[in-house]
Amino acid sequence: MQIGAHALVFTGKFDEAGIRLAIEATRRAGLDLIEIPLMDPQNFDRKLAARLLEENGVEATASLGLSDSTDLTSPDPAIVAAGEAMLTECLEIVAAMGGKHICGVLYSAMKKYMEPVTAQGRASSAAAIGRLGTRAADLGIALSLEVVNRYETNVMNTGREALKFLDEVDNPSVSIHLDSYHMNIEEADMTSPVLDVGDRLGYVHIGESHRGYLGSGTVDFGGFFRGLARIGYDGPIVFESFSSAVVDRDLSRMLGIWRNLWDDSDDLAAHANRFIRDQLRAVESIGMH
Ligand code: MN
Repeated sequence: MQIGAHALVFTGKFDEAGIRLAIEATRRAGLDLIEIPLMDPQNFDRKLAARLLEENGVEATASLGLSDSTDLTSPDPAIVAAGEAMLTECLEIVAAMGGKHICGVLYSAMKKYMEPVTAQGRASSAAAIGRLGTRAADLGIALSLEVVNRYETNVMNTGREALKFLDEVDNPSVSIHLDSYHMNIEEADMTSPVLDVGDRLGYVHIGESHRGYLGSGTVDFGGFFRGLARIGYDGPIVFESFSSAVVDRDLSRMLGIWRNLWDDSDDLAAHANRFIRDQLRAVESIGMH
């Protein structure tokens, strides 16, 4: 099992200095992998990232949310085509970095919609995700769809809704990405969605209710990790935390990161690494009971 952190724990800039800082800090925190947001794939230097990852013995995953100009649920076929082309390019970037996972809100724009998704929008997105899943599988990359709260998509907000969407995608290589922060908003509890998703779970985000230090909010991590242990989950577990101390122009605004919840990235990441590994050790011991 690999434990990681989102790059925005360390940097909001993805120039050489930012990529280097984030990858080195990931290693120093004792983490196995870094999740790199590909919000601006055209300006991301994949070769540089691959070299720095190799030098530091760190692996990368990638995540992103679509925008209005790349929304796979759009009624405009040109926008859907732009989204599919952009995601195809992102898969190439992940492959160039030796990554094995891409995740996030890959199926719609990441924004507050003012209307429910249309049947046509769902079908358009499911078809595109199905094709992208095949391309990802060819590259040895797992494509996982992140279930996010109602203010960030109108396609699916719970694990069971994600299972329904996966039925429409109809590609066994596409999986579900659960995030404790979003689950804490939308799900009935933190264990049953994990059991319901079961072996379709491909990626996990660990975030606190306010997206600050783990253990300082209201998320029932005990219940969540017990669920992960029950299904034998062994995929990536990636810590997400955002503060106005580290800002990405697009992502921070979209996520509403207005407050300063921490100011020491190294301490935050090392704490998250310990917290996650301690939770995993605790639930592992249940097998002895
Ligand atoms: Mn997340």
